[in-house]
Amino acid sequence: MPETKIKKNEDFNEWYNEIVELAELCDKRYPIKGMNVWRPYGWKLMNHVDRLIRDEMEKTSHHEVYFPLLIPESLFKKEEEHIEGFGSEVYWITHAGENELEERWLLRPTSETAMYPVFSLWIRSHADLPLKTFQIVNTFRYETKQTRAFIRVREIHFFEAHTCHEDFKDAEKQIEEDKAIANRLFKRLCLPFIFSKRPDWDKFAGAFYTISIDVLMPSWRTLQLGSIHQYRDNFSKPYGISYETEDGKHTYVHQTTYGMSERILGALVGIHSDNKGLVIPPAVAPTQVIIIPVIFKGKEEKVLELCDMICKKLMDEDVRVVADKRDITPGSKYYDWELKGVPLRVEIGPKDIEKKQIVLVRRDTGKKKAVSQESAVKTIKEELVTISKNLCDNAKKFLDENMHRVHSIEEAKDKKGIVELPWCKSEDCALEIENILDGNTIGEPIEDVECKDYSCPLCGKTAETWMRYAKTY
Ligand SMILES: [Zn+2]
Repeated sequence: MPETKIKKNEDFNEWYNEIVELAELCDKRYPIKGMNVWRPYGWKLMNHVDRLIRDEMEKTSHHEVYFPLLIPESLFKKEEEHIEGFGSEVYWITHAGENELEERWLLRPTSETAMYPVFSLWIRSHADLPLKTFQIVNTFRYETKQTRAFIRVREIHFFEAHTCHEDFKDAEKQIEEDKAIANRLFKRLCLPFIFSKRPDWDKFAGAFYTISIDVLMPSWRTLQLGSIHQYRDNFSKPYGISYETEDGKHTYVHQTTYGMSERILGALVGIHSDNKGLVIPPAVAPTQVIIIPVIFKGKEEKVLELCDMICKKLMDEDVRVVADKRDITPGSKYYDWELKGVPLRVEIGPKDIEKKQIVLVRRDTGKKKAVSQESAVKTIKEELVTISKNLCDNAKKFLDENMHRVHSIEEAKDKKGIVELPWCKSEDCALEIENILDGNTIGEPIEDVECKDYSCPLCGKTAETWMRYAKTY
């Protein structure tokens, strides 16, 4: 079987670049860097991820909206920290035709400043709360670092949920719901992750606090896949989003947001795939099962008949299945579908007809097994669950093996992956340790934070919590 030129365990980043092209997920030849063309297979895969996200939004009573791409400068500038944080990353529109605009417009880097003036019109009384909305749209950020498909781009495929609540307490409940959504979603994607509370100097511009969702890539660098933000009333005050309480007073709402992007796809590719191509978790595989007829002259009819029958039975059970009847060798078909990461292959040849069996081949392990035609559908469905579990377990094992809770900088220096060190909560100490370790602060763990028996490895003060460090994308 052909393999990638660059091996995953030799040069992960170059292997990643090769695999996204080979599997035809995107085309990076578009003449604006960081604005890639989604090829059909990549877009299909992204749509399946979005489908899982929409499922979760539906279950939790969020409503989908679509706000305009363009934001007037005056609206963007209402929240000071936000403009400070995003100011250098936005694209400006200054002209319409030959005419210079009276007021500049910008391409949304995120949609707070487009949505919130409108929310202030929608929300009148406590009966309008909570307001739970989301959209999946493109956002634009002028990225100056080196771009990388799905991981660092300038046109972002962005999911953003925006909610408004009566008070801080109700907004906190939303954060809990968001965490539960992340737990369910990333389990289906077989992507174990960690929640971290970002340090104050690194939180979302304008947020009260930020919780990040990070995975560990095989290069031992973390990749942030999402973030959940508590805004308190930091945005509702400048944007005038208030409501009348039952006793007739006017109060500002408390808000939260939840953001994710096509980085999820980057993580799926990077974490699960191998030198033969993609390995896609069954929950989002555009094709979950591929049926390949192994045909010999004179026996075509029966083989194709059985392929069609199994295919139909699987379709009836909502399995995404394709029977590949192209006139090329079975070997070429195996290669194509392995590259595309289809979780399970079914081979059916004349011998299998005689033995009343079919052969299943798993993409994740390469293991083959013959099963009776009678129990085929049941076994295939079970195998898809087993494959999911195996992908989850492997990724979890890698994460666990590469998370280290240590007590001195010397110990931390020896470790690959994510290290947790006792922290006194001083910004100076964390930034200095970041330098020494040549990594980045990820944030504090949100659970299991007991640390009072230890001291900050830099200044020696009693530690208040742990701080995570890692090399990041
Ligand atoms: Zn310190």
